[in-house]
Amino acid sequence: MVKPRFGQHFLNDQSIAQREISYAGITKDDIVLEIGPGKGIITKLLAAYAKEVIAIEIDPRLATELQKTLPRNVTLLCKDALTVDFTTLPRFSKIVSNLPFEISSPIMFKFLECRFSIAVLIFQKDFAERLVASPGTKEYSRLTVNVSYKATCRILETIPRDCFSPPPKVDSAIVELIPAPVPRFSVQNEPFFFELTKQLFTHRRKKIRYTIKSLYGDLKDLPFLDHRVEQLTPEQIGHLSDLISERL
Ligand code: SAM
Repeated sequence: MVKPRFGQHFLNDQSIAQREISYAGITKDDIVLEIGPGKGIITKLLAAYAKEVIAIEIDPRLATELQKTLPRNVTLLCKDALTVDFTTLPRFSKIVSNLPFEISSPIMFKFLECRFSIAVLIFQKDFAERLVASPGTKEYSRLTVNVSYKATCRILETIPRDCFSPPPKVDSAIVELIPAPVPRFSVQNEPFFFELTKQLFTHRRKKIRYTIKSLYGDLKDLPFLDHRVEQLTPEQIGHLSDLISERL
Protein backbone atom coordinates (compact mmCIF):
# COMPACT_ATOMS: atom_id res chain seq x y z
CA MET A 1 0.00 0.00 0.00
CA VAL A 2 1.23 3.50 -0.86
CA LYS A 3 1.74 5.76 2.17
CA PRO A 4 0.93 9.37 1.27
CA ARG A 5 2.60 10.72 4.39
CA PHE A 6 5.97 9.49 3.14
CA GLY A 7 5.51 11.26 -0.21
CA GLN A 8 5.47 7.93 -2.00
CA HIS A 9 5.18 8.80 -5.68
CA PHE A 10 7.33 6.27 -7.52
CA LEU A 11 9.09 7.19 -10.75
CA ASN A 12 7.73 5.00 -13.53
CA ASP A 13 9.94 6.23 -16.38
CA GLN A 14 13.34 4.57 -16.58
CA SER A 15 14.65 7.22 -19.01
CA ILE A 16 14.18 9.95 -16.37
CA ALA A 17 16.16 7.92 -13.82
CA GLN A 18 18.85 7.46 -16.47
CA ARG A 19 18.99 11.19 -17.20
CA GLU A 20 19.18 12.05 -13.50
CA ILE A 21 22.25 9.86 -13.23
CA SER A 22 23.82 11.34 -16.38
CA TYR A 23 23.33 14.90 -15.08
CA ALA A 24 25.27 13.93 -11.96
CA GLY A 25 28.11 12.48 -14.08
CA ILE A 26 28.35 9.39 -11.86
CA THR A 27 31.55 7.35 -12.27
CA LYS A 28 33.13 4.38 -10.50
CA ASP A 29 34.97 6.87 -8.25
CA ASP A 30 31.73 8.11 -6.71
CA ILE A 31 30.08 7.23 -3.43
CA VAL A 32 26.49 8.40 -3.87
CA LEU A 33 23.87 9.21 -1.24
CA GLU A 34 20.24 8.55 -2.14
CA ILE A 35 17.35 9.58 0.12
CA GLY A 36 14.15 7.57 -0.31
CA PRO A 37 15.10 4.75 -2.71
CA GLY A 38 11.51 3.43 -2.63
CA LYS A 39 11.33 0.50 -5.02
CA GLY A 40 14.85 1.18 -6.26
CA ILE A 41 14.45 2.52 -9.82
CA ILE A 42 17.24 5.09 -9.27
CA THR A 43 19.19 2.99 -6.75
CA LYS A 44 19.84 0.09 -9.13
CA LEU A 45 21.01 2.38 -11.92
CA LEU A 46 23.24 4.25 -9.48
CA ALA A 47 24.74 0.96 -8.35
CA ALA A 48 25.66 0.16 -11.95
CA TYR A 49 27.55 3.44 -12.44
CA ALA A 50 28.91 4.30 -8.96
CA LYS A 51 31.50 2.71 -6.73
CA GLU A 52 29.10 2.63 -3.80
CA VAL A 53 25.57 3.78 -2.97
CA ILE A 54 24.21 4.66 0.47
CA ALA A 55 20.41 4.64 0.40
CA ILE A 56 18.23 5.76 3.31
CA GLU A 57 14.58 4.64 3.29
CA ILE A 58 12.14 5.40 6.11
CA ASP A 59 9.50 2.78 5.25
CA PRO A 60 10.47 -0.66 6.65
CA ARG A 61 8.12 -2.47 4.28
CA LEU A 62 9.78 -0.93 1.21
CA ALA A 63 13.27 -1.36 2.67
CA THR A 64 12.69 -5.07 3.34
CA GLU A 65 11.51 -5.69 -0.23
CA LEU A 66 14.26 -3.59 -1.78
CA GLN A 67 17.01 -5.24 0.24
CA LYS A 68 16.25 -8.55 -1.49
CA THR A 69 17.13 -7.19 -4.93
CA LEU A 70 20.05 -4.85 -4.30
CA PRO A 71 23.57 -5.38 -5.58
CA ARG A 72 26.43 -5.61 -3.08
CA ASN A 73 27.68 -2.08 -3.55
CA VAL A 74 24.46 -0.63 -2.05
CA THR A 75 24.16 -0.07 1.71
CA LEU A 76 20.50 0.36 2.63
CA LEU A 77 19.63 2.03 5.94
CA CYS A 78 16.04 1.86 7.13
CA LYS A 79 15.86 5.23 8.90
CA ASP A 80 14.37 8.70 8.76
CA ALA A 81 16.96 10.62 6.74
CA LEU A 82 16.25 13.75 8.78
CA THR A 83 17.54 12.05 11.93
CA VAL A 84 20.65 10.46 10.38
CA ASP A 85 23.93 12.20 11.14
CA PHE A 86 25.41 12.35 7.63
CA THR A 87 28.93 12.74 9.05
CA THR A 88 28.70 9.13 10.32
CA LEU A 89 28.15 7.81 6.76
CA PRO A 90 30.96 6.92 4.38
CA ARG A 91 32.13 10.19 2.81
CA PHE A 92 29.78 10.56 -0.17
CA SER A 93 30.78 12.64 -3.21
CA LYS A 94 27.38 13.11 -4.85
CA ILE A 95 23.67 13.03 -3.97
CA VAL A 96 21.01 11.76 -6.37
CA SER A 97 17.40 11.46 -5.17
CA ASN A 98 13.74 11.72 -5.99
CA LEU A 99 12.74 13.38 -2.74
CA PRO A 100 9.53 13.09 -0.76
CA PHE A 101 7.80 16.46 -0.83
CA GLU A 102 7.26 16.55 2.94
CA ILE A 103 10.96 16.83 3.73
CA SER A 104 12.13 19.01 0.80
CA SER A 105 13.07 22.03 2.86
CA PRO A 106 14.74 20.40 5.92
CA ILE A 107 16.66 17.90 3.79
CA MET A 108 17.91 20.72 1.56
CA PHE A 109 19.30 22.53 4.60
CA LYS A 110 20.83 19.27 5.82
CA PHE A 111 22.53 18.76 2.44
CA LEU A 112 23.97 22.27 2.59
CA GLU A 113 25.81 21.38 5.80
CA CYS A 114 27.67 18.59 3.95
CA ARG A 115 30.59 18.53 1.55
CA PHE A 116 29.87 17.02 -1.85
CA SER A 117 30.48 18.05 -5.45
CA ILE A 118 26.97 17.93 -6.95
CA ALA A 119 23.41 16.95 -6.06
CA VAL A 120 20.81 16.11 -8.70
CA LEU A 121 17.39 16.08 -7.07
CA ILE A 122 13.79 15.69 -8.09
CA PHE A 123 11.50 18.10 -6.26
CA GLN A 124 7.96 19.23 -6.81
CA LYS A 125 8.10 21.99 -9.41
CA ASP A 126 6.84 24.77 -7.15
CA PHE A 127 9.57 23.98 -4.61
CA ALA A 128 12.20 23.90 -7.39
CA GLU A 129 10.98 27.30 -8.59
CA ARG A 130 11.43 28.73 -5.10
CA LEU A 131 15.03 27.49 -5.08
CA VAL A 132 15.97 29.41 -8.24
CA ALA A 133 13.62 32.39 -7.96
CA SER A 134 14.67 35.96 -8.77
CA PRO A 135 14.00 38.93 -6.50
CA GLY A 136 10.66 40.56 -7.25
CA THR A 137 8.86 37.29 -8.00
CA LYS A 138 6.33 35.60 -5.72
CA GLU A 139 8.51 32.46 -5.58
CA TYR A 140 11.46 34.43 -4.13
CA SER A 141 11.68 33.34 -0.50
CA ARG A 142 13.78 32.77 2.57
CA LEU A 143 14.70 29.41 1.04
CA THR A 144 16.02 31.12 -2.12
CA VAL A 145 18.20 33.47 -0.10
CA ASN A 146 19.61 30.82 2.24
CA VAL A 147 20.35 28.39 -0.59
CA SER A 148 21.93 31.03 -2.80
CA TYR A 149 24.28 31.98 0.04
CA LYS A 150 25.80 28.50 -0.04
CA ALA A 151 25.22 27.03 -3.49
CA THR A 152 24.21 27.54 -7.10
CA CYS A 153 21.04 25.93 -8.22
CA ARG A 154 19.29 25.45 -11.56
CA ILE A 155 16.33 23.59 -12.95
CA LEU A 156 17.44 21.04 -15.56
CA GLU A 157 14.05 19.82 -16.72
CA THR A 158 10.39 19.63 -15.76
CA ILE A 159 8.80 16.22 -15.25
CA PRO A 160 5.07 15.74 -15.87
CA ARG A 161 3.14 14.31 -12.91
CA ASP A 162 2.10 11.21 -14.86
CA CYS A 163 5.71 9.98 -14.78
CA PHE A 164 5.03 8.97 -11.15
CA SER A 165 2.76 6.30 -9.66
CA PRO A 166 0.50 7.34 -8.10
CA PRO A 167 0.71 10.76 -9.81
CA PRO A 168 1.13 13.70 -7.43
CA LYS A 169 -1.13 16.76 -7.76
CA VAL A 170 1.63 18.87 -9.37
CA ASP A 171 4.51 18.44 -11.82
CA SER A 172 8.09 17.94 -10.66
CA ALA A 173 11.50 19.19 -11.75
CA ILE A 174 15.06 17.93 -11.76
CA VAL A 175 17.32 20.39 -9.96
CA GLU A 176 21.11 20.63 -9.96
CA LEU A 177 22.69 21.90 -6.74
CA ILE A 178 26.39 22.75 -6.63
CA PRO A 179 27.71 23.84 -3.23
CA ALA A 180 30.09 26.79 -3.28
CA PRO A 181 33.49 26.08 -1.66
CA VAL A 182 32.98 29.24 0.41
CA PRO A 183 29.77 31.27 0.85
CA ARG A 184 28.88 33.09 -2.39
CA PHE A 185 28.86 36.47 -0.66
CA SER A 186 30.34 37.68 2.57
CA VAL A 187 28.31 37.98 5.77
CA GLN A 188 29.91 38.93 9.09
CA ASN A 189 27.45 37.18 11.42
CA GLU A 190 25.82 34.12 9.84
CA PRO A 191 23.27 33.30 12.58
CA PHE A 192 22.17 36.94 12.56
CA PHE A 193 21.86 36.92 8.74
CA PHE A 194 19.71 33.76 8.78
CA GLU A 195 17.47 35.14 11.55
CA LEU A 196 17.10 38.53 9.85
CA THR A 197 16.22 36.80 6.55
CA LYS A 198 13.62 34.70 8.36
CA GLN A 199 12.06 37.73 10.05
CA LEU A 200 12.01 39.84 6.90
CA PHE A 201 10.30 37.11 4.86
CA THR A 202 7.79 36.46 7.64
CA HIS A 203 6.68 40.05 6.96
CA ARG A 204 7.48 40.05 3.25
CA ARG A 205 4.80 42.63 2.30
CA LYS A 206 5.90 45.13 5.00
CA LYS A 207 8.45 47.82 4.33
CA ILE A 208 11.77 46.76 5.81
CA ARG A 209 11.73 49.88 8.04
CA TYR A 210 8.81 48.52 10.09
CA THR A 211 10.17 45.01 10.56
CA ILE A 212 13.56 46.32 11.62
CA LYS A 213 12.02 48.85 13.99
CA SER A 214 9.94 46.18 15.72
CA LEU A 215 12.97 43.92 16.10
CA TYR A 216 15.89 46.26 16.82
CA GLY A 217 14.43 49.72 17.52
CA ASP A 218 14.67 52.87 15.47
CA LEU A 219 17.92 52.39 13.52
CA LYS A 220 18.62 55.28 11.18
CA ASP A 221 20.78 55.63 8.05
CA LEU A 222 20.26 52.12 6.79
CA PRO A 223 19.77 51.36 3.11
CA PHE A 224 16.63 49.68 1.67
CA LEU A 225 14.32 50.84 4.50
CA ASP A 226 11.53 51.76 2.09
CA HIS A 227 11.86 48.51 0.14
CA ARG A 228 10.18 45.19 0.79
CA VAL A 229 12.47 42.22 1.31
CA GLU A 230 11.23 40.53 -1.85
CA GLN A 231 12.88 43.35 -3.87
CA LEU A 232 16.36 42.81 -2.37
CA THR A 233 18.99 40.44 -3.74
CA PRO A 234 20.51 37.92 -1.31
CA GLU A 235 23.72 40.02 -1.33
CA GLN A 236 21.76 43.15 -0.34
CA ILE A 237 20.12 41.28 2.54
CA GLY A 238 23.62 40.19 3.59
CA HIS A 239 24.83 43.79 3.45
CA LEU A 240 21.87 44.98 5.53
CA SER A 241 22.55 42.22 8.04
CA ASP A 242 26.17 43.38 8.42
CA LEU A 243 25.13 47.01 8.95
CA ILE A 244 22.54 46.11 11.60
CA SER A 245 24.60 43.50 13.45
CA GLU A 246 27.55 45.86 13.88
CA ARG A 247 25.27 48.44 15.52
CA LEU A 248 23.72 46.09 18.08
N1 SAM B 1 13.26 6.92 -5.29
C1 SAM B 1 11.97 6.31 -5.53
C2 SAM B 1 11.50 6.60 -6.94
O1 SAM B 1 12.04 7.53 -7.55
O2 SAM B 1 10.59 5.92 -7.40
C3 SAM B 1 10.93 6.76 -4.50
C4 SAM B 1 10.71 8.26 -4.44
S1 SAM B 1 9.34 8.73 -3.43
C5 SAM B 1 9.04 10.37 -4.08
C6 SAM B 1 10.07 9.15 -1.87
C7 SAM B 1 10.63 8.01 -1.06
O3 SAM B 1 11.21 8.55 0.13
C8 SAM B 1 9.63 6.98 -0.59
O4 SAM B 1 10.18 5.69 -0.80
C9 SAM B 1 9.45 7.25 0.90
O5 SAM B 1 9.09 6.12 1.67
C10 SAM B 1 10.82 7.78 1.26
N2 SAM B 1 10.86 8.69 2.42
C11 SAM B 1 9.90 9.57 2.84
N3 SAM B 1 10.32 10.25 3.91
C12 SAM B 1 11.57 9.83 4.17
C13 SAM B 1 12.54 10.15 5.18
N4 SAM B 1 12.28 11.09 6.11
N5 SAM B 1 13.73 9.49 5.17
C14 SAM B 1 14.00 8.55 4.23
N6 SAM B 1 13.12 8.18 3.28
C15 SAM B 1 11.93 8.82 3.23
